[in-house]
Amino acid sequence: MIQKAIVLGAGGFIGSHMVTNLKEKGYFVTAVDIKYPEFSESGADDFQILDLTDQNSFENLLKNNNDATEIYQYAADMGGAGFIFTGENDADIMHNSSLININLLKGVTKFFNLENVKIFYSSSACIYPEEIQSSNENISLREIDAYPANPDSEYGWEKLFSERLYLSYQKNYKMNIKIARFHNIYGPQGTWQGGREKAPAAVCRKISEAKDGGEIEIWGDGEQTRSFLYIEDCIEATKRLMDSEVNIPINIGSEEMVTINQLVNLVAKHANKKIAINHIDGPLGVRGRNSNNDLIREKLNWDYKFSLSEGIQKTYDWIDAQVTINKKHD
Ligand code: NAD
Repeated sequence: MIQKAIVLGAGGFIGSHMVTNLKEKGYFVTAVDIKYPEFSESGADDFQILDLTDQNSFENLLKNNNDATEIYQYAADMGGAGFIFTGENDADIMHNSSLININLLKGVTKFFNLENVKIFYSSSACIYPEEIQSSNENISLREIDAYPANPDSEYGWEKLFSERLYLSYQKNYKMNIKIARFHNIYGPQGTWQGGREKAPAAVCRKISEAKDGGEIEIWGDGEQTRSFLYIEDCIEATKRLMDSEVNIPINIGSEEMVTINQLVNLVAKHANKKIAINHIDGPLGVRGRNSNNDLIREKLNWDYKFSLSEGIQKTYDWIDAQVTINKKHD
């Protein structure tokens, strides 16, 4: 029998890649978002434009698709540092994203046979406490470091609240819940301009637009550290989590930590350009962050395959082509 999956947030970066992956595996896919994917046509069998903060439309969707055995929940009001850390979008982030998760869980209890469905929730490295990420030395975040909690953004608090919401439904309704804490996912078809883009995409765009020997602006001194996971590795880890017995939040990230200055140099090398960095004030987030993958290695026997250099090459080539297409349309 053909397995059916629902992908929420399927017009976004990770959700659209998951739809492609599920279709390759032969699933029937119902996809939902407030928008279609920006950069390619969705391969979903059924793509519905819905606002998932609206309980009635969400419940209708679930009622009509209650034969799905897997639900992937990516829908959230989110973006990079320029969206999350300015404080200007906090009310929308808290309200919209939590409402989507509340509506989903309530609706599933109403319309699904809970023994037949698994739900994946995309949490974030942003749930980890601010004070353990105040240095840019090797900050290796283990799952148990989440508490005592003190995320540095409302985005992180919402993710932590929603993790707890999913875990409560797992406890009280015996729902089959899978929660990943994603650490900076990047790759082709991710947002690369407009204010919601993340660091790798922003750096690729700036370098693509710069002349050889030119200069780009970077927020802060560029010595803040992060790790970045290539999209294909993220999808593979998520599928493995979904197929496993793991029922606690787990990191999905890379352990290849770099400073933002190193990231710039790596992109410049792939672009074959000499680029100077102009450090300016801007929203930064924590000083240092890296994923600790001990738990996922132990439980799922998973490790990332793409080095940052390999992933950046593919991402830069894609963004460079987007920049060229955009120039032609100007
Ligand atoms: P994205 O912004 O590209 O995708 C989110 C999608 O949700 C968007 O297409 C958006 O239109 C949709 N959405 C928002 N509000 C909606 C609503 N009311 N109704 C229906 N759809 C709605 O983000 P992404 O990078 O693909 O991230 C997917 C998920 O993974 C998010 O929950 C995000 O918080 C989480 N996450 C991502 C990263 C990362 O590095 N990309 C890191 C940690 C966690």
